[in-house]
Amino acid sequence: MDGGPGIKIGRILGIPIYLHASWFIIFALITFSLAKQFAYQHSHWTDAQHWAAGLITSLLFFGSVLFHELAHSVVALRYRIPVVSITLFIFGGVARIGREPGSAKQEFNIAIAGPFSSYLLAGGFRLLMGVFPSSDMLGALAEWLSITNLALATFNLIPGFPLDGGRILRALVWGVTGDFARASRIAARSGQLVAYGLIVFGIWRSLTGSFRDGLWLAFIGWFLLTAAQESYAQVAVRAALSGIRAADIMSRDLPTVGRATSLEDYSYEVLRTGRRCHLVVDNGALIGLMSVAALNRVPREEWATTSVQAAMIPREQIRWAAPEEPVLALLERMQSDDVNQVPVVANGTVVGMVTRESILRVVRARAEVGDLASH
Ligand SMILES: [Zn+2]
Repeated sequence: MDGGPGIKIGRILGIPIYLHASWFIIFALITFSLAKQFAYQHSHWTDAQHWAAGLITSLLFFGSVLFHELAHSVVALRYRIPVVSITLFIFGGVARIGREPGSAKQEFNIAIAGPFSSYLLAGGFRLLMGVFPSSDMLGALAEWLSITNLALATFNLIPGFPLDGGRILRALVWGVTGDFARASRIAARSGQLVAYGLIVFGIWRSLTGSFRDGLWLAFIGWFLLTAAQESYAQVAVRAALSGIRAADIMSRDLPTVGRATSLEDYSYEVLRTGRRCHLVVDNGALIGLMSVAALNRVPREEWATTSVQAAMIPREQIRWAAPEEPVLALLERMQSDDVNQVPVVANGTVVGMVTRESILRVVRARAEVGDLASH
């Protein structure tokens, strides 16, 4: 998802829970359509009751989605895989885990926990239906939540990445073949198939049956297609970067700049040399890191009067890498920290610099060499 995780509403099990901006749209839509549905089915209720039931049911539905994501998270945490965040958004929920599962069994258990928890909730609401008649508010609410959780669990079991079913498929292929890259490719391909299927079915349904439901299915298909393509690209990057360490690709050319240099002069230096990142030194000692990104954080009209020292990333805030750090892990770190370059440090001295561009060059070169080799 783009645009950051959204508004933080709290923490459960230490995991920050976010509401993405798009969630408010779906929450309003579901509340509104539930209130209308209850008004149609239970005309003897008051209007306030229709709206209250709609609101409570909608809240409990998103509580159910959160429960589903927490189920994935609890299993991940048991394997000591950190859970970065849980975000509720227009198409449901997503639990972002800190790294890929270490084995097929772990992936399988993390994936299946979600649908399992939704079936559990469906069963729980089903039991409530036995206690309260469906003409009651509680009975009506339990009926809708039971059916919806059942549908949610079953939909998620469709074997196309990034749905839970796609992860289960990947875990099974991974377990049988021992080949993670191949399993990911197969799961991503089946995810694309499922997505195209949903789009076609959705368009067909919107033309022949229910316009709104059809359009919605097509939208979900489009979202899944994007996600499946992203995961496909990620697998290619992982394969290209496996076995490479920071020292293998770092540039040993380390341009420096004096701390008193004005940003004006620094910008000429960047334009003249094409180098986008410099070590800031004072009497031979490193005191910071200066880059084009840091330069652009200062308004253009202040460049003449601001020094590099005032704009640089100070030494203690620089993110370092060790020469032996795997490049794949380093790239993930650079993405989550949103930095474009990381100095490589050995025994307290900077020995090189790894940039995102240098990593991409390796990915591209390996993809081309792989192509040549396979012809
Ligand atoms: Zn799930």
